[in-house]
Parts: sequence; structure tokens; C-alpha cells
Amino acid sequence: MSDEIGQGSFEGRFYNKKALKLKILDLIRNKGLITKQQIAKELGINITTVNMLINQFKERNNIIKEIGDGSSSGGRKPKLYTINNELGYIIGIDIGGTNTRGILTDLSGNIIHYLKIKTKAKEGKEAVLSKVISVANETIDSSKISRDKLFGIGMSISGIINSYEGVSVFCPNIPGWENYPIKSIMEKEFNLPVCIDDSVRCAAVAEKRFGIAKDHDNFIFVSIGKGIGMGAFIDGKIYRGSMGLAGELGHITVSEDGPLCNCGNKGCLEAIASGPGILKRAREGIENGIVTSISKEINNNFESLTVEIISKAANEGDKYAYYLINRTGEYIGIAIAAALNLFGCDLVVLWGGILECGDIILDAIKRTVKMRALEFISKRVRIEKTALGDNIAALGAVQTFIDKLYSESDSNILLKSFKS
Ligand SMILES: [Zn+2]
Repeated sequence: MSDEIGQGSFEGRFYNKKALKLKILDLIRNKGLITKQQIAKELGINITTVNMLINQFKERNNIIKEIGDGSSSGGRKPKLYTINNELGYIIGIDIGGTNTRGILTDLSGNIIHYLKIKTKAKEGKEAVLSKVISVANETIDSSKISRDKLFGIGMSISGIINSYEGVSVFCPNIPGWENYPIKSIMEKEFNLPVCIDDSVRCAAVAEKRFGIAKDHDNFIFVSIGKGIGMGAFIDGKIYRGSMGLAGELGHITVSEDGPLCNCGNKGCLEAIASGPGILKRAREGIENGIVTSISKEINNNFESLTVEIISKAANEGDKYAYYLINRTGEYIGIAIAAALNLFGCDLVVLWGGILECGDIILDAIKRTVKMRALEFISKRVRIEKTALGDNIAALGAVQTFIDKLYSESDSNILLKSFKS
């Protein structure tokens, strides 16, 4: 058989065999359960070709499984096929400024084991690296999964990450991780393929696969915590841009003469509306003599000031605390409205610790978006908090890796046992 499968075409083009195999596997994983007839119809290819490839999948590396029977309009019921989740496993590591999480999942991203430790970023570059390595090792060992069943590692890092080159470009939470080639370091350490991305884009990928955005091909995912970032899904794909780091919503200017940001610019959204930004604004106000219950709460010790304290005061009716939280929501709303005007999507998913401030901040974000986004967009857009839990970014890192497994440009680990 030649490399070209000529019996069918999809959108007018022919696939070579390897690409067609991946296309079929990708379709099976996206549908969950599918019959051979449906595969032939969806991809516009001959049923004989589907039969042949499905038999190869079953016999040569067990990548798919037969599950029960599909419905039939008469005659024998067709077999249903699904991905064999136990064929291989993926490790997900999420490195945040505070915590580092490790998960081990099957081929569909079902979490089999997870653990969480403190990052202790202040201990330095090498200390954080050895902690990341030990989290990965511990996750594998405690899951009792044999190392030869591992496909690879997906990593999520809070910072500016060049996902194409596998480099942490700028990582304000981890001193020393500037222009740090973490992907190649981890690949050497584990002798496995590794992919890395920024934690917000990873979380957005998880949201698309498992969360509210499941049925949305266009949405933006905004994280608001120690930093502020965005992942944009365009036509069903996460947008990374030509340098692999698109979506830095936190570094757009929302106040021309605003406070200095740690990127070197002035008045970035992150410098104003992130956790540290809120604390800085609160402190300035109090030092300038504003009367607020926060002062009594912290007894003039600004080291003990937290966003939780401000949020609690705001919810108890303290005017200055309310102003701070409400204003934070307005700034975030300005940036989200701008992003919506650019991308024109109808869903915004929010993630991050600052949302714990409750309705005050969420209402301010929604109100500002309504005021500032184009009316056609603001009338249709839904703004919601993610319902995915603590492991969202690690899960997205794994999913990013899994997506690569199914794409023809990558190493095709899925097809590695195929000799044909
Ligand atoms: Zn900035």
C-alpha cells in the first residue's frame, strides 16, 4: 500500500497513512465512543480503509478498545470503539509561586494520583528545580505505574513562558528562572518528552476539555491572583502567537501614570489589580490617612495585610475596603472588555484567588464589561468562574501534552509500536 490512501478525501485533501491514523484516533477520543461507519462518514473515507486501520489499532498496540454495541436501524448492531486509556500515562506538574502540584493521569486525562508541596521559591533556582524533579518522581512512585508506561510530562509554570522553545522567559515568582531552558533540563532528567506552557494557557486548555467551555470554540480565560493572565481560544485552538507567549492581559496599560509593574512598565493591569497590586494600593491609602477598619485589623503592621482582610472588611461595609475591591473589579473589567472587543467571543471564564472576594468584585467586572464592551458583545457574553478545582493547571498541562500526541507534527508516541 502506498503512503497515500486514495479511496477517500477529507475537505478535498488526501491523507498519508500516519496522518490518517492520527486523525481517526483523534476523532475517537473526541467522540468518546464511535462506530466504524461514523468514522468513515465523519472523515469522508472508505469503510474498507477504516476497517483495515481499526484492525491494526486493535491488533498491534491495543490503542483502542471495543465497547458494547452501537444503535442500529436494523440488522446486526455495529461495534463501538473508544481509546484504551491504560495504554500509557502522563505526568502533569504545575509550578506556582506558592505551591507545586504533581498529577499522574491516564491517556484521557483522568487523574490517578496527585500531590502538592510548597514551592519555597525563595530557596533559589536549583532548589526549586530539585523540588520539581522530586514531585515528578514521587508522583510516579506513589501511583505504582511502571515507568516504561509513561508517555511524557506536561508542565505548567506561572510566568512568561515560550512554549515553542520550552523556555521560562520571565518568572517573577521564581528567582533565577529567567531564560531558563526547563523543557530540555526535564527531558534529560527523565528521558521523556516534555512540553511546557504558562499556567493560565494550561488552565484554559483544561477548561476547554473538561469545564464550562467544553462546547465553546471561542472564549477567553482570565486568571486573577498574584499575577494576571489570559488564555484565548480561537476556533477551537489555544492561541499562542508567533512567540508562543500570547495572552499577557496583565501587562496591558490601564492607567498611563499608574504604579510601576515588575515587567518594567507603568500602569499595567497586574500592577494595580493583582493581589500584590491591591495590597500596595491599600497601604498607600492608609498611609495617606484614609480612615478604615483595616488599620485596626492589622494594627499598622502592613506585613500582616492580606487580600482576605480587605475583602472581609469590604463585605462588612467598610467604605475604603469596598472602594478598593470594587475599583479592582472595574480595572479588570476594562481589560476584559478590550479583550472581548478584540476577540469577539461570547464566554469569559475567570480563575484565581482574587475571586474569593465574592460578589463585589464579580459584579464590578460584569458591570464594567457591560459598560465598555461593544453592545453587540456585552449583551451576549457570559462571565463565569471556573468550576474546575485545585489541579486545573496541572490537568491542562497534561491535556496540552495529550493534544500533542494526536497531532501529526509531533513524535507520534501513540503510533510508535506500529511497524507498517
Ligand atoms: Zn507589566
